[in-house]
Formats: sequence, structure tokens, C-alpha cells
Amino acid sequence: MFPAAFAPGSIGTLDLPHRILMGSMHLNFEADPRALGAFYAERAAGGAALIVTGGTAVSREGSGGRTYLVSGGGAFLDAAGAALEAVHDAGGRLALQLFHAGRYAFEDTFGLQPLAPSPVWSAFSRSMPAAMNQEQIARTLEDFAGAARLARELGFDAVEIMGSEGYLVNQFASAATNLRDDEWGGDAVRRRAFPLAVLAAVRDAAGPGLPVIFRLSGDDLMPGSSSPEEYRGLAAALAAAGADALNVGIGWHESRVPTVQALVPHGQWLPVAALIRAALAAQACPVPVIGSNRINSLAQADAALAAGQVDFVSLARPFLADPRIVAKSAAGRPELVNTCIACNEACIDRSLGTEPVSCLVNPRAGREAAYPVEVQAAGKGPVPGAGPAPLPGTGPGPGGVRLPAHAAVAVAGAGPAGLQAAATLASHGVPVVLFEAGPGIGGQFLLAGKVPGKADFLENVRYFSHELPRLGVRIRTGVRVRAADLAGFSHVVVATGVLPRTVPLPGQGQLPVLDYRDAFADPAALRTVPRIAVVGAGGIAVDLAHLLLQPEPGRPETEKQSAERFARELAGAAGADRGGAQITLLRRGGRIGAGIGPSTRWAALQVLRSAGVRMLTGVTCRRLTNRGLLVTRQDGSGLLIPADAVVVAAGQVENTELAHGLEAAGIPFTVIGGAATAAGLNAVRAFADGLECGTAV
Ligand code: SF4
Repeated sequence: MFPAAFAPGSIGTLDLPHRILMGSMHLNFEADPRALGAFYAERAAGGAALIVTGGTAVSREGSGGRTYLVSGGGAFLDAAGAALEAVHDAGGRLALQLFHAGRYAFEDTFGLQPLAPSPVWSAFSRSMPAAMNQEQIARTLEDFAGAARLARELGFDAVEIMGSEGYLVNQFASAATNLRDDEWGGDAVRRRAFPLAVLAAVRDAAGPGLPVIFRLSGDDLMPGSSSPEEYRGLAAALAAAGADALNVGIGWHESRVPTVQALVPHGQWLPVAALIRAALAAQACPVPVIGSNRINSLAQADAALAAGQVDFVSLARPFLADPRIVAKSAAGRPELVNTCIACNEACIDRSLGTEPVSCLVNPRAGREAAYPVEVQAAGKGPVPGAGPAPLPGTGPGPGGVRLPAHAAVAVAGAGPAGLQAAATLASHGVPVVLFEAGPGIGGQFLLAGKVPGKADFLENVRYFSHELPRLGVRIRTGVRVRAADLAGFSHVVVATGVLPRTVPLPGQGQLPVLDYRDAFADPAALRTVPRIAVVGAGGIAVDLAHLLLQPEPGRPETEKQSAERFARELAGAAGADRGGAQITLLRRGGRIGAGIGPSTRWAALQVLRSAGVRMLTGVTCRRLTNRGLLVTRQDGSGLLIPADAVVVAAGQVENTELAHGLEAAGIPFTVIGGAATAAGLNAVRAFADGLECGTAV
């Protein structure tokens, strides 16, 4: 299985067992050596051929923020020591990423004005950088060299120069941010000078035995920036100048083209890397090219490698979602891989602030030291490929101990919280029976999976459908349990989720009114409704609008349909085929799409805007009429929203019926997820609740 992915390869002098690397991620817990070591150790043990650290600033002024490590500092030395020891003990290899934020640095981190090739305002860091003078350029080159030298002395297995995603080195290469007219800028050749000088400095400091990877931008996706052709020229120059591999990045933080969000098709950016690889081949510079971004399975990686698009594939978020993605795939058990759903909610969105990075579908990510149990269950217990774990009561549990039947725990509800609780309990060796009233497991992920670009939510359901039986969890679907049914269990985890909030709308009967669950259940029925008013404009309402814009809403997208949809969205033609039909989102207070993470919200709303979806805030719904929905604005004036149907997606309330029954019956229980608190519910909290509860019960 996956022969191209599992072919050995090498980067410079570094021999690697296969072609799957773990890409750089800023984690916001780099200064915690214990957490960092445990995090990397699991990914190394899980089979990553080479792990690239998060960016380590080569100087204070190049820092990306308060939580970044700065090369040479005490915190860096502690973290580097812990990470190297953990990765090497686990049999892995670790590359240090050398980073300088340039105009993406935040002035308030150290009170230093950001430096850049030219004074071009940064919308990302909201600062005006100073143009670097010759002395500052020379010092920065020495900073890169010093960091590479230290990496070699500490025992790193490689270094990677961060030269993409709009950071300093990329800024020098870009016509949008390099406005100089000296030896460091002015034309395409001079814009290469700084990236090449950085490479030369690092190459020299690293010495011949330490591989140097250069991450360059394949396409900035920025107005006025250098062209992909220019970057292919830079790639050839870097290869000729001694780079051991080129890792191809895409897009800048300021770009308005989505690059890593769920709505971006899998493998969208591989052709950019493939063109760079072809350009190198044409110039007889056979330096390995690494592809990255929107690849979340070994199957996709293997296909790209087999097709000769790239020589290595760098996965980042997929290693958060499942540290053992490589090991499971190598064992021929890809169905046991917990797939990254590209939500960005617990990773990229957090990395933009200061909260420690984790993963929505894997709440242990970043907290491996605090929650070591799953390492024991999945790593030292039944391994992928070794068959399912025995069922409780029929033999030894995962911990090797025969457990009494009365110790069994019931989990009611198979949405994210319940699934995670069941898996966590079972990984502790607790017999678990999981009850679900619906026909299948997955809860609200089954609704989300219908949204264009979110089919990977169903991959998470697939994961649990294999992982839970492996752990010995008994699953009973189509069973709406009552308290009386659960008297024989030692404990009940109530994960019964939420119910749609109802909104009183006088005038019933004037228009069809559905709640969001009905709309998601049969979106095709709304396809021919010309005008739809959606009451509510949070994440579910935005998802619903996306769904209703599709030609065949509700049918999972094929990869081809995903690519076609994204092309329409990039062209600003999303939803054009609705023939002028109107969707209106209505919100009383707050922002449209509130609750959607910052890295995704703008992209989601951009699609809705281009499709002509109306989005109104500050309106209060008053009554239904036979011509639409009557609302009032904040100034008290009335407004008729023309509509032929109304969908209510105005929040949720706790589903507490079972919890009340258990309380009355005196059966011990714990309520988690939306059933505990519907306000502000998101899947990050639901999964985290499941982990906490499964560990504590
Ligand atoms: Fe992937 Fe979401 Fe997890 Fe980030 S939080 S790694 S995007 S599943």
C-alpha cells in the first residue's frame, strides 16, 4: 500500500525511510520543554520521516510574536534540548526552522519596529516597517548564519530557511514588498539577492554535513507580487546555490485567496510545486521538491509522488489530528487514521494568538504529557494491523485486565463529545456501551459533512466507526435510551447534544418554516425555493447558505466537483447557477459568521458575498407574512425580507431530558458537550469535554 510514499529517499546527506515529512507548525507551547518533547516524541514514534520545528526567530526583531523562540536564548536551548532528545529517543529526525517575520513581526512583542525590504504597510501585523539599511541586512544574514551554526552544534538533523508565506525572505523576493533599487531589489534578478545571500550564509554555517531545506513561495497569491515564473527562476537559482531541498509554500497571510481552508480542494497547490520540479529538471538541477498544503491522507500524498509532481510531501495539520498517520498507513490500516478536517479552529486560529495549539478532532494534541493514556492504549496496546481489541466481557480489555461487567459505562449520544468520551474511556480499559438515537454515529458532523468542502467531517465519522470497535466499544444505534434503561451501568456519560432554539414568529402558516436540522436533512427540497430567509447568521447559518448555493445540495462532492466549485468561487461566480435566487441571513446582534475562526470566516463570507447572499445585522424578526419576513432595524424602521421559506438557525439549547431522568433515578452521570452548555458550543469544546470526561470518570 502507498509504494511511492514508502519509498526511501534522501535530502542532502540525510537518508530518510520514506517520503512523508511533518511540516513546520507554530505551537504556542514551544517554551514548555515537557509539552514540546512529548508532542514531538509521539509524532516521531508515529513515523514522520523528518519533523520540522515551528519557526525559531533568528533575532528578537524577527520574532513572530511573544510565544516564538529566539535562537540562542535560554528558552530556546531548553526547548531544543527537550525536543531533540525526545525525537531522537523515538528514532526520529528533527530539522530546525530558521525564521524572520520581517514586516509580519508585531511591534509590541519587543517594542521594536519591524524591519522589511521597504516600508510597505502590513495588514497582518498592522504596522509600518522600516526599510532595512545595509548594516541591518548584513546583521540579519549573520543572524541566520548564527542560528544555523547553533543548530548544527546542538545536533539538529537539518535546517529549513523560512522563505515563504510572506515572511522576511519572501518579502525580499516579492515585487509587492521589495520596492528597493539597489543590489537587493529593483528587478527579478536583484530580488533574488537576499534569499540567495541567506542561503549562502546558512549553507556556510551549516557545513557540508547538515542538510539545508529552503521553503520558498511558489505563488504569493498577492496583487502586484512576483509571478510564479519568477519564483521558478528563484528555485533554480537556489538549487544551483546549494539548497538540499525546496519546500514549496503558497500564499501570504494578507492574501485574499484561501489556501488551507476546508473549502480549498485537496491537492489544490500541488501543480505549483510540480512546475517548480519541472523547471529544476529542465535546468538539470535535480534537487528534491517538497509539496505541502491541503494534503491530508497518505493516499493523496502517494498519488502526487507516484505522478512525479513532487519528491516528498510535507503534512502538518494531519500530524496534529493523528500523530500515527504514517504508522497506521504503513500497517495497511488507513481506516484507523483520524483525518484532519481543515477546520483550523484549534490550530491555525490559535497560532494567530497565544493559546496553545491543539486539534479539534484530537484534543490530546499538544497535551500528550498531561494525557499519556492513549499512548499506552494505541502505542503499546493493540496496534493497527493486529486486529481488533477484544470486547469487554469476552476477554482481557485493552489494559490486559478482565473487567467486571458492572464497571461498564454507558455513553448516551454519538456526536463529537460522546465519541471522544467513549474512545477515551475504552483506551483506559473501561468497558463502554455507546447509545445513539439516530441511525448512525457522528451527530452534527453528519450535517457538516454535507457542506461543500467539509466532506472530510465524514472521514472523522469513518475513523470512529473503526476505532471504537477496535477499542472494544459496543455501539448501539437507533436506540433512544431512557434513565430506566441505564440502571445497570456504573456511570452514564450524557452527550445527548443540543436541540435547535425556537424563535417565536407570529403569522404561522403564512410561509413554510423549518429549523436548520430539517434544512440540512433535505437541502435539495430548498433548491427550487427562490427566496430563503435564514434567521440567524452564526456558523451553522453560514454553512447552510453555502450548502444551498450548490447545484446538488446535500450530495457529497467528488474531488472533481470540489475543484470546479473552488474555481467558481475564485472567479467570484459562486452560486451563479441559482439563477438570481436570493438567500438572506438575518442577525439581531453580533457579526455575521461569529464563532467561525479568524482564518476561515473571511473566506467563507467572501464566497457568500460573491454569490449575492444578503447579510443583515441589527434586525429583529417580527412576523411572517405571505410575502416574506417582516423585521425591524435598530432604528425601529420596518423592512420586509422577501421570502418563500424561512429557516431558523438561531442557536441551540441543551438537550437535558436524559440528564433529568438520571437525576431522578439516582444513577451517577456526567453531562458533557452541548448537553451541558449549548451557549458558545463548538466542536473543539465538545471533543475536549469528551477527553476530560473520559479521563476523569
Ligand atoms: Fe486539522 Fe482542525 Fe485539527 Fe487543525 S484543528 S489539525 S485543521 S482537524
